[in-house]
Amino acid sequence: MSPLKDHLDEVLARASGRGLKRLLVPGVDEASSFEALSLTRQVRAVKTFAAVGVHPHDVKDLKEGIPEELLSLGENESVLAIGETGLDYYRNLSPRDVQREFFIKHIEWAKCVGKPLICHVRDAYDEVLEILKVEGASEVGGVLHCFQGEMEHAKKAIDMGFYISFACTITYRKNENLRRIAASIQPENILCETDSPYLSPEGLRGKPNEPANVGYVYETIATLRGIEVEELAEVVFDNSMRLLGW
Ligand SMILES: [Zn+2]
Repeated sequence: MSPLKDHLDEVLARASGRGLKRLLVPGVDEASSFEALSLTRQVRAVKTFAAVGVHPHDVKDLKEGIPEELLSLGENESVLAIGETGLDYYRNLSPRDVQREFFIKHIEWAKCVGKPLICHVRDAYDEVLEILKVEGASEVGGVLHCFQGEMEHAKKAIDMGFYISFACTITYRKNENLRRIAASIQPENILCETDSPYLSPEGLRGKPNEPANVGYVYETIATLRGIEVEELAEVVFDNSMRLLGW
């Protein structure tokens, strides 16, 4: 969230202006997890909630395992999910075996605190789905965030009680396959996000992304499905309520 931090009041005012009521801010390491929690205690234009975890890019630094202080954050009532966690075989910033080890640890953690998982996946859908299955992650469910997989991956995830979350990448010209998936899975399985400050929508690429831009995701999916944005937003809000209980 760093490029947005210095202008947080304006960023959240714009989000509120677009009708956003609640935001989930995921940590990617210990420091950002604590920051996400501290944000939940501040009075801002939009109420925020936290997810806590260590991103697969950063698990290489966890020589002593997940720190106790971070693990205990999972119990906090403003922490609604465990993540980001998962596997990133595209950038490989942590060794793959270390990524796998800590992905499994995050699943155990989520089951222990009874909270859903926010999964980051790049070039590793088959393996992520296999691990979620073997580790019994359907007990807590979760979301495949910023989904970029194939239809069969979406179906398998949905069968395990996971949601498919679309980000502004769905607006990119080349992502025809992603739009096909968003048009054909049930709205009850969809979530929408921005992954701010990354992956700004088509037309705004190169600028930091921000929560208000989630409107582009809703508009794209609603148009694909031939429904009103408000209708989609209502279903997606109910989905987020079922997953996060916020
Ligand atoms: Zn991610």
